[in-house]
Amino acid sequence: MRFEGKKVLVTGGSRGIGRAVVEGFAREGAEVAFIYNSNKEAAEDVVSTLAGEGHKAVTAHQCDVSDQAQVDALVEKLIDQWDRLDILVNNAGIVKDGLLATMDPANWLAVINTNLNSVFYFCRAVTRPMMSQRAGRIVNMSSVAAEFPNQGQANYAASKGGVQGLTRCMATELGRRGITVNAVAPGFIETDMTVAVRNAAEAEIKKAIPLRRLGKPEDIANATLFLASDEASYITGQILTVDGGLTLGGI
Ligand code: NAP
Repeated sequence: MRFEGKKVLVTGGSRGIGRAVVEGFAREGAEVAFIYNSNKEAAEDVVSTLAGEGHKAVTAHQCDVSDQAQVDALVEKLIDQWDRLDILVNNAGIVKDGLLATMDPANWLAVINTNLNSVFYFCRAVTRPMMSQRAGRIVNMSSVAAEFPNQGQANYAASKGGVQGLTRCMATELGRRGITVNAVAPGFIETDMTVAVRNAAEAEIKKAIPLRRLGKPEDIANATLFLASDEASYITGQILTVDGGLTLGGI
């Protein structure tokens, strides 16, 4: 069990990629606290499913990751309870697509606040405890859209590009304290977030992917767990693309 006894915090753990990340850590022995925003039922389903498998050290916490006061309060509560935090996964994210010329500024802000500012809030809140532990792993969820955006994704691409810059900068600042900071950049993954685009163009998307399938949440969870594991202890400041070859441009 790679994560026996490790204390892990995952944002957006109630659905999609985050749920697979929570399940992966729990099944490998970790104590996991995960965050959801509004879908309490989905969060409770994660907890009860894992408890049914015997993984009882999994808890769900309501928190809007775009609200710094809520983030600070939750992190403080967890660290008081656990006395440490070994692994942080910043996964929560949203899309609000629209062409730039007509983009509602509220949609720009919502995506930047949820996808990028939240990562800053969580990283800032865990940095001091991790620095005193002289150990820690942070994995941030970016996207291939940071480098290869589709039309209508100005807010999303900017947020995920920001996550990559933040990841690299933090890696330079925290390496001497034994903390690694990396990101995963998923391609097209089968989650609620991609339902609309999959319904519109799934066959076309598959043709553009050398591996000829969409990714599963577990594909991203596997990469995330690897970056959080001891096997990745000499990897920091990296963006690991997990997209079935989508962005190779070879087709
Ligand atoms: P998803 O299925 O839509 O799930 C999103 C998760 O984030 C849910 O648990 C949701 O909680 C939570 N969340 C959203 N806003 C939040 C907020 N303000 N505060 C707290 N939690 C919040 O998304 P996904 O597809 O798994 O995506 C996960 C991450 O991967 C995102 O950062 C996304 O940008 C990135 N990504 C996804 C893909 C893809 O193809 N799916 C590709 C590249 C990158 P509630 O259920 O309570 O709303």
